[in-house]
Order: sequence, then structure tokens, then C-alpha cells
Amino acid sequence: MNTIAGLRAVLDERRRGGASVALVPTMGALHDGHLALVRRARELADVVVVSIFVNPLQFGPTEDLDRYPRTLEADVAALSGLGVDVVFAPDVAEMYPDGSAAGTKVTAGPVGGRYEGAHRPGHFDGMLTVVAKLFSIAQPDVAVFGQKDAQQVFLVTRMVADLDLRLRIEVVPTVREADGLALSSRNRFLDGRERVAALVLAESLDAARTSAADGASELLAEGVAAFGDHDGVDLDYFVVVDPATFLPVDEEFRGRALVLVAARVGTTRLIDNAFVEIGADAGADAGPDARAELPPSPAE
Ligand code: AMP
Repeated sequence: MNTIAGLRAVLDERRRGGASVALVPTMGALHDGHLALVRRARELADVVVVSIFVNPLQFGPTEDLDRYPRTLEADVAALSGLGVDVVFAPDVAEMYPDGSAAGTKVTAGPVGGRYEGAHRPGHFDGMLTVVAKLFSIAQPDVAVFGQKDAQQVFLVTRMVADLDLRLRIEVVPTVREADGLALSSRNRFLDGRERVAALVLAESLDAARTSAADGASELLAEGVAAFGDHDGVDLDYFVVVDPATFLPVDEEFRGRALVLVAARVGTTRLIDNAFVEIGADAGADAGPDARAELPPSPAE
């Protein structure tokens, strides 16, 4: 399905029959992380819509829009057997008939300018704009997002609250490779050496988790130190934020916090995050995506 009118017609019909709708927005190049979202969606609603759209609006002029993998056929194959009702894969002209630059945009609040937003100006406005459009097009009861993109989850949740949008946001824990690397569509760009080097992100989160008992400064010092001896890896940021505000915590902060990390490995930019319990015993379980946890299989 690649037209807005076509998707609306299908969903209107199903809703008339009393069906609920779950939406899983993606940019395609699907991996097991995306599929975990789809499985969760399948549990939550009668009709599951997966959107596949590489949104030009959320890429900066020097970013990897052209290089971003587009694998629609393989994506559709990966979704078969998961009970997806509609794959919505519009082209750019369908979503932005007058061009993406000219139209109305959603503007993120101040958190949108931090972390990922500081490194990718305009990224979150572009992301929120397309997500708002997808919400308006599909009018889902629930939309499913991955904790992998923690700042995205925060900003989408804020948009839903701030604009009184009528849906629920469901968050699925980060799915990882066996060695801890968070699954990402961009991992396919890593060569053998970079794939090994990329582990430093998960390792830095481990280091942060282990030192969280000693407070935020110690946690940050240990996390950043993990990047010390990795050639070809450039740390963009390593911060610890209060999940309620997404603002950096101070040294007095105690309780559940979120550590965010971003780094460039060769030419590939990767992000990851983990919940930690600041001021608690080192082994304390800080949340659903504690590093040791295996990929979630909500269907099981
Ligand atoms: P993307 O296609 O990168 O825009 O991602 C689409 C959705 O999949 C977003 O909600 C992401 O947070 C989620 N996602 C991507 N990677 C993972 C992962 N490793 N685990 C869980 N969710 C993920």
C-alpha cells in the first residue's frame, strides 16, 4: 500500500467493524529490533500497520539520506508471518506533494535541541512532523516505538501530550546482538574491524551501570573512560539524564536515570542508551533494558 487515501480506506473500513489499530513507524531496512515492535503491536490491537518511509525531512544536508539502506522487498518478506495487516510504503511525493521544505512543521520543545538534536539540527522537527502526519493518516489507538531511540520516545510522548493527540505510545526495550551491540539499520555499514570497535558503546554503558552506585560524576567518568583506547571511534556525547525531563542530572541525583551515548565508528554514527540506578547497589536492576537482558520476545 503506498497511497494515503488507500490506507485510510482500509482502516476506516476496519474501524467501522470495531477494530483497533496499532502503528509501527519505521524507515525500513528492518531487523529484529523492528520485528520486536511489530510483535508487540500484534499483541495490542486488531489491525497492525507498519509504515516504511525514509523521511528526507529528518536528515541534514550532509547526512546519509542517499546512503540510507532501502530494502523494501526484503522488508516485506521479513514481515510476512508476523500478522501485519498493512505495509504502508509511500514515496516522498505522496507524503510531501509540494516538497518537504515548504510545508508546515512540528517543532520539538527545548529537549529537541540537545544530544541528538545538537548533532543533527532539525532532525527532531523532521521526525516529529512525519510522525504527526503518520498519526493523522492512520489514526492509530497505539503506536509502538523502540527504546533504542530514547530521545525520540521522549519527544514523541511529549508531542502526544502537548498536542492532545488521541493515542497511546508503547515502548519496546532495545534488542541487541548476543555481544551487546544494539541492532541498527546502520550496523550494515560497519566493516569487520568497525563492528568490533562498535562494541565500545555497549561497554561504556556497562561501565556506567557498574559505577552508578558511586554517583553521576563517577558514572560519567567511567563511561567516557571506556572510549579511551579505541582508535577510529569518535565520541559525540555521553550524558546521564533524568528520564522525566531528559535534562542532565546533577551530582545529588538519586534513582533511575538514563545514560545516552553517541559515537562515530568510521563513517557510521551509532547511538545507544541504558537505564541505570544512581546511588543504588551496582548490581541493581535499573529497568527493562538492563544490558544483560536478551532480545525481548513479547510473543513468547
Ligand atoms: P528506524 O527504522 O531506525 O526509524 O526505527 C524504527 C523504530 O524501530 C523506532 O521506534 C526505533 O526506536 C526502533 N528500533 C530500532 N532499532 C531498535 C532496536 N535495536 N531495538 C528496539 N527497537 C529498535
